[in-house]
Amino acid sequence: PSSAPLLEIQDIQMQFGGITALKGINYSVPPGIIQAVIGPNGAGKTTLFHCISGLLTPTAGQVRFDGREINGSLPHQIARYGISRTFQHVALFKSMSVLENIMVGRHPKTRSGFWSTGLRFPGMRREEKHIREESLSHLEFVGLAAEAQLPAGTLPLGKQKILEIARALATEPRLILLDEPAGGLNMRETEELGELVQRICGRGITVMLVEHDMNLIMDISHRILVLYYGEPLATGTPEEIKENPAVIEAYLGEG
Ligand code: ATP
Repeated sequence: PSSAPLLEIQDIQMQFGGITALKGINYSVPPGIIQAVIGPNGAGKTTLFHCISGLLTPTAGQVRFDGREINGSLPHQIARYGISRTFQHVALFKSMSVLENIMVGRHPKTRSGFWSTGLRFPGMRREEKHIREESLSHLEFVGLAAEAQLPAGTLPLGKQKILEIARALATEPRLILLDEPAGGLNMRETEELGELVQRICGRGITVMLVEHDMNLIMDISHRILVLYYGEPLATGTPEEIKENPAVIEAYLGEG
């Protein structure tokens, strides 16, 4: 809390025609923590991630990352500033190998060289080898090295979701946004995922996590932001959120 925020969300609003999905959110995330974002369906969680990652430009307000104003920047620029993300639904190249799925996420310049033309320029083999080694080390970190050569589509969902995280890590982000990483996972897969998220944070990467699995959230997050109809309803540690009457009422009201 004493360090400067890594991410600052200032008064952001997002309007879709007549629908106001975000109604003026102010929130800061310090570096080095696991920050959860929870709330009922339609609360605006994914919209908030879209605004941070550049898929949407907020109708009003500002997003700052490491002191730099980033709203209005394109997703690939924001990725270069050090923010990467995963999506609610798995979006892998299913017939490509696990390793190739990581490698295509790397350096667009190299990709257009060796993936689309197939030509080898001087220095490219070395570059390709370097990317392959780095990609393998990301697979090792997430525990998928043994599956490197398998087609991504043959992995169980739990491993596909972890592969997506590995791909997001391959851009070497300082902030990673995970949108419902535990969605569809069984208990054991969820535990493994939780452990991985903690190791990512242990590497100094700040994690923002949209998630419906309350046990996972309460186990691993340092801070929680509760959104309700496009507005913050509460913020605090897992212990504070568990005991917050407004949160209890909102969730009980939902059934
Ligand atoms: P869930 O937990 O179901 O994923 P969420 O909290 O992520 O929900 P959002 O997907 O951010 O919620 O949606 C917030 C509100 O904005 C909803 O009312 C939704 O219908 C609306 N909305 C989101 N995207 C659009 C869009 N592109 N056009 C119109 N309305 C949208």
